[in-house]
Amino acid sequence: MLTFRTKSPTETISLGARLGRLLEPGDFVALFGELGAGKTQFAKGVARGVGVDPSLPVTSPTYTLLNVYKGRLPLYHFDLYRLQGAEEASALGFEEYFYGSGVCVVEWSERLEEELPDQALCVTLAHGDDDTRSISFEARGSHAEGVIRKLATA
Ligand code: ADP
Ligand code: MG
Repeated sequence: MLTFRTKSPTETISLGARLGRLLEPGDFVALFGELGAGKTQFAKGVARGVGVDPSLPVTSPTYTLLNVYKGRLPLYHFDLYRLQGAEEASALGFEEYFYGSGVCVVEWSERLEEELPDQALCVTLAHGDDDTRSISFEARGSHAEGVIRKLATA
C-alpha cells in the first residue's frame, strides 16, 4: 500500500493528475471514503491527467450517476452514492464502461461490493486534521500494481 498525505484540495488534485497521466485504456480507479473526504477533488485531478479540457468543470454526478468526458482517453466518472448496493449496480449494466477501453473513476465504490472489477486501482481517502487528507493506493491485480509502482516514483 502506498499512502500520501495532502494538505489542501490543490495538492489532492495534483496527486489525482499524477495518477491520471499514468492511466491507460481500460483502467478502473475505485474511490473509497466518506462524504467530504476529497473523492471529487481527486477525480478532478484524474480528469486533468487524462487530458480533459481544464476549462470543463468536474463535479460529482450524484444524481446522474455518470459523467462522460473526452480526454486523451474517454473518462467515465461515476458517483454511486445513491445506489443501494451490488444488486442495483449489476442491474444497471455498467459492464460496457467498466470493461471497455476508456478509464473509469468511481466515487462510492463501497456500493459495488462483488461488482468491483478484479483489475482495479483502489484509492481510499480519509479525513485528517483540518485540511489534511490521507490518500492510500492499493492494487487489485497485477496491472494496478505496476501503476502504483510508477506513481511511487513519478
Ligand atoms: P467527496 O467527493 O469525497 O464527498 P469532495 O472532493 O467533494 O469530497 O470535497 C472535499 C472537500 O474538502 C472540499 O470542500 C475541499 O475543498 C475540502 N478539502 C480540504 N482539504 C482537502 C484536501 N487536502 N483534499 C481534498 N479536499 C480537501
Ligand atoms: Mg463527490
